[in-house]
Amino acid sequence: MICLHKIVPVAEMGPGFRRDDKSFVLDSADMTELLFRDDAYIRSCPARVTAADARGIRLDRTVFYPTGGGQPGDVGVLRLASGAAIAIVDTVKGEGPDEVIHVPAPGAASPEPGAEVTAELDWERRHRLMRMHSCLHLLCAVVPGGVTGGQVSDGRGRLDFDVPGSSLDKEVIAARLNELIAAGHPVVPRWIADEELAARPELVRTMSVKPPSGAGQVRLLEIVGPDGAVDLQPCGGTHVSNTAEIGPVTIAKIENKGRQNRRIIIAFAE
Ligand SMILES: [Zn+2]
Repeated sequence: MICLHKIVPVAEMGPGFRRDDKSFVLDSADMTELLFRDDAYIRSCPARVTAADARGIRLDRTVFYPTGGGQPGDVGVLRLASGAAIAIVDTVKGEGPDEVIHVPAPGAASPEPGAEVTAELDWERRHRLMRMHSCLHLLCAVVPGGVTGGQVSDGRGRLDFDVPGSSLDKEVIAARLNELIAAGHPVVPRWIADEELAARPELVRTMSVKPPSGAGQVRLLEIVGPDGAVDLQPCGGTHVSNTAEIGPVTIAKIENKGRQNRRIIIAFAE
């Protein structure tokens, strides 16, 4: 029997909280403190360069989300103490579990290890990605069936569902989706133990995406409803804190991708 209610939501932990488990303790030069995991609204942070090589720049902490889980990596700038700025055109994962590589624009100057920088997101873009990513969670709640793939891009998003036939109605899905958005459901990240997740395989809707785990814990994303979760599944991405922030959406298209595979493409309505 698992007790989800015993897990303290990250939002209640307060500023300055540091997890006791290893996932939040920097014990390796390759690890980066991932500030976006507990607060997706942090737009910039002071950080120290730990390494810079042909692949990119590593920092001791970052607000930049690396490509993964169907969400693209962040872009932005690293500002040096001199006032110079290094444009970051992509963010990717390194080999280590919490290793983040900031990819500079071609020809950009390389900072020295130890340099103090301010890491600043292109917040407008990131916020659109957070809105669309959160919307895809709601789409999971609206459409029955396993998710076989998905992708968020700037202004659009899609999920592929394993559903037979052509039973999906564009207008019905759009209406239900916009209803859930407008209802203003809270969106809350929380962590559970690996063995708790293993005991509840039904939580894993997306077969193609492995949630972040390690140190015995997995990150869950819950969209809280009046009678239990609207959606609850492992996810390491960045989300808005309330569904109302997503804003109205339309179903751009429903495509047949094979006998059982239906691709639903969503766009912002405004
Ligand atoms: Zn997510």
